Parts: sequence; structure tokens; C-alpha cells
Amino acid sequence: MGYIAGIDIGGTNCRIGIFSLDGNLEKSWRFSSKPFQQPEYISSALSSELNRFEEFKDIVAVGIGVPGLVNSQGIIASSPNYPDWNNLPLRDILTKELKLPVFVDNDANVFAVGEHFCGVAKDVDNFVVFTIGTGIGGGLFLKGSIFHGAKGMAGEIGHIVLHPSGPQCGCGKKGCLEAYSSGTAIKKQFAQLTGLELEPKEIYELAKKGDKAALKTFEKAAYHLGIGIANIVNIIDVSLIVLGGGVSQAFDIMQNQIKKGFKEHTFEVHLNTVEIKLSSLQDNAGLYGGFAIAKQGIEGEKNAL
Ligand SMILES: [Zn+2]
Repeated sequence: MGYIAGIDIGGTNCRIGIFSLDGNLEKSWRFSSKPFQQPEYISSALSSELNRFEEFKDIVAVGIGVPGLVNSQGIIASSPNYPDWNNLPLRDILTKELKLPVFVDNDANVFAVGEHFCGVAKDVDNFVVFTIGTGIGGGLFLKGSIFHGAKGMAGEIGHIVLHPSGPQCGCGKKGCLEAYSSGTAIKKQFAQLTGLELEPKEIYELAKKGDKAALKTFEKAAYHLGIGIANIVNIIDVSLIVLGGGVSQAFDIMQNQIKKGFKEHTFEVHLNTVEIKLSSLQDNAGLYGGFAIAKQGIEGEKNAL
């Protein structure tokens, strides 16, 4: 009997899923990712959490999604959530600590792999994922696998520039998609309109009740998201866009403006051929994706022998 652990490290929480080798999620749990702020505690924190699984010794591989720029050696160049992760060799650190094969990729890439494994993009070999939470991440799934780019850092679609003199983005530049359509942008926009500091979820509740400022906030975010989607479709001609992350839960009130922004900025040929769908796995996409990259990773290593 063997198991694979899929791990999703978020800004606030870390989730672990334990899978059978054929991809059944046997159990999952979450814990605070606060210890990860200090890189020296990452390996002991993850190791003690994995040890909570009784059959720890039967785990054969681990796949991890992390927020940040990850290269093909599993080194994290930088992370928006963890300022002290500078060129952190996470894959090597964890391989040594856990004595297991470890596979690391950007969280949005892992999310896309999860959706392809058993979510809304199952059997679709060309699609793009937008993960919209505090920031906006992206996964380019092309010709049946993640497109990583020259240095492993492709897919930062949150930083497509929509207006060079637009609002300040978390990356330090101005006018990025993330500065219009992320949870952070939604909070800021609503505060500018009303003076109230609310969480995106609370603003969504207000919008559903017909609150004008809340609706206007979501519509603006959605319209710009539609422009971002048009940019992607114009360049790589995918026929499926998958939306995940906390803000995507507001898809019902956003979809009309997303379509409007998309329609106004893409070619006619794409109008009726591109589907924009909500992730079907949501929080679990990162776990399934972690399983899938680890499974593919160990099978690839076996084939290379
Ligand atoms: Zn940016």
C-alpha cells in the first residue's frame, strides 16, 4: 500500500491531502502556515504535520504548490506571501528532511494540473486558469501540460498591464490586472466608494442584496477581468478559461461584465468558441494537482532509469 501527499501552501493556511496511488483523496486537513514565514521552520513544520498521518511511512512522494516564482529545480525565487523566501531551495530542503521524492511548482500551475486531472478541465488539453484571491495567479496548460517558460516562471497573468498609469499593484508596478480584479483591489475600490473597510466576501453579500456600491465594485473588477481574459485568448487561442480562488465565488454577479470586457477586447472568431467556467474543485484543486505532479514525477523518474 502506498500514498501520495498533495500539499497546497497558501498565504494563511496550508492544506494537506493524502491520496491513494490511484488518486482517491483519503483524508485532508489544514493548519496555519505562519511558521513558514521563517524558512528554517518549513521542513520541520511540514514533517510534523505529515507525521500526523498514521501511515506516514507508506507515503511514496509529495507534490507541493507554493505561492511565488518557482524554477524547474524547485527553487522559489520570491513569494508575495513570504518575503523571506529568497532563492529558497524548497525541493532540496524537503527531499532531505522527508527522505522522499518531492515535486514543487507554483500554486496556480498546480491548481491547473488538478483541474485537468479530475475537474472542469478534464480531457481539455489547452486551457488557462486564473486564481483570483488576495492576488491573481495564472496557470497556462498547453498541449497537455503546464507551460513553464524559459526560467519556469511563465503564467503571471495577474500582471498583464491594462493601464500603465492605473492603480498601484502589489508587485510594485501600476495598472496590472491584479490591481483591478483581485480581492485586494475589490476591498480598496469599495473603501474608496463608501469609506468602509470590508472583506470581499462581505462586499459580495451586500452586492447580492442589491447594494449599489458593492455591485459597482464587483462589476468594475469583472469587466477588467474580462479584458485580461481577452488578452490571453488573443495571444494563445485557448477555448477554455477556468476561474478559481475566493473571488471567483462571486461568478454569478460577475459573469455578465466578464463577458462584456472579453467581447469588447477580443476577435469575433473567439466570441462563441471560448468558454469561461468556474473551477469545480476550488480549494481541493491544489491538493489534486499536488497528487498529480508527484505521481507524474515518480513515474517520469522510473521511466528515466
Ligand atoms: Zn502587478
